[in-house]
Amino acid sequence: MKTRDPFKISLKQKEEIMTLQQEIFEQIKKHQRIIIHRHQRPDPDAIGSQIGLAEIIHASFPMKTVLSVGKQISGLSWIGEMDVADDDDYDDALVIVTDTANPPRVDDNRYTNGQELIKIDHHPNDDPYGDLIWVVPNASSSAEIVYDFYHQFKKELTLTPKAARALYAGIVADTGRFLYSATTPHTLRVAASLMATGFDVTAVNQKLDSIALPVAKLSAYVYENLEITDAGAATVCLTAEVLDKFDLKDAGTAGVVPIPGKIDSVVCWAIFVIQRDGTYRVRLRSKGPTINELAKKHDGGGHALASGAKAKDLDEVAVIKKELAEIATAYQKSKKE
Ligand code: AMP
Repeated sequence: MKTRDPFKISLKQKEEIMTLQQEIFEQIKKHQRIIIHRHQRPDPDAIGSQIGLAEIIHASFPMKTVLSVGKQISGLSWIGEMDVADDDDYDDALVIVTDTANPPRVDDNRYTNGQELIKIDHHPNDDPYGDLIWVVPNASSSAEIVYDFYHQFKKELTLTPKAARALYAGIVADTGRFLYSATTPHTLRVAASLMATGFDVTAVNQKLDSIALPVAKLSAYVYENLEITDAGAATVCLTAEVLDKFDLKDAGTAGVVPIPGKIDSVVCWAIFVIQRDGTYRVRLRSKGPTINELAKKHDGGGHALASGAKAKDLDEVAVIKKELAEIATAYQKSKKE
């Protein structure tokens, strides 16, 4: 297990991070209005880091206006509700974007209209943007980074149970319940501190663990229809017919994304999901080989072991399948050497 720990890094690195954190804190203190964005098609870490940060700032500085913006996602509103920001609100605002690597993925393109822009994220910083950029690619989640920020200034900041609940949800979801390799001793310490604030942890765990009946049925379809190469590259295509059969839309398919990884012979996988315009969303995951370079070749990106891309048609789906199979083959070969 890796031991990412902000207190076990070189003195120089520690000083650099503390300077950056201090600059971010100064900006928060300076601005009366703070608008927090995150990425489109949010997951619990996007919403959790956004709502967690908003709640910490709001609880610490009740006189400030703190707005969380982006499309309201009904399935995630239990973490926190979105606010409405008027165009004028941006005039003298500080804008913070959490959990979003690339500018085109920011939900609500007014994010550049503020006075200052801060990026806080844990994806590789391939596409830097903002006046201040705090990116920790080996952090388990953006929620963990937000907690680190709170911890750094905890004499002046307030962590409410609502904020802790949102951050905890982000961490649990992005680590696959502390299963994925980005989970470190530091992650577990952060989760423990969040739990200690007193929110209903069991209820959050149950929320994150439960799936709707159509998703359960789709899971059976995924297991039945996975194509698995000898080297362990697994793929399945969720066409319009499949989604109709299970009465699901793209957003409802998130629950089946981890499924192929449960199979012992699978090392990497792709789930292709049809979109309204006939293109395919590609959800790539891996237990070993790096798949984000493949994602980048197909209008996507993400982490080494969890990425997303786009395929314009079934021909591109076939190309991605072939490339994924090659990645799995090379990986198996490298393990034998
Ligand atoms: P998803 O499969 O949508 O859950 O995405 C997995 C990871 O890949 C997330 O960390 C996303 O930020 C990233 N990702 C997904 N789609 C894209 C994209 N089109 N461009 C860049 N990164 C993406």
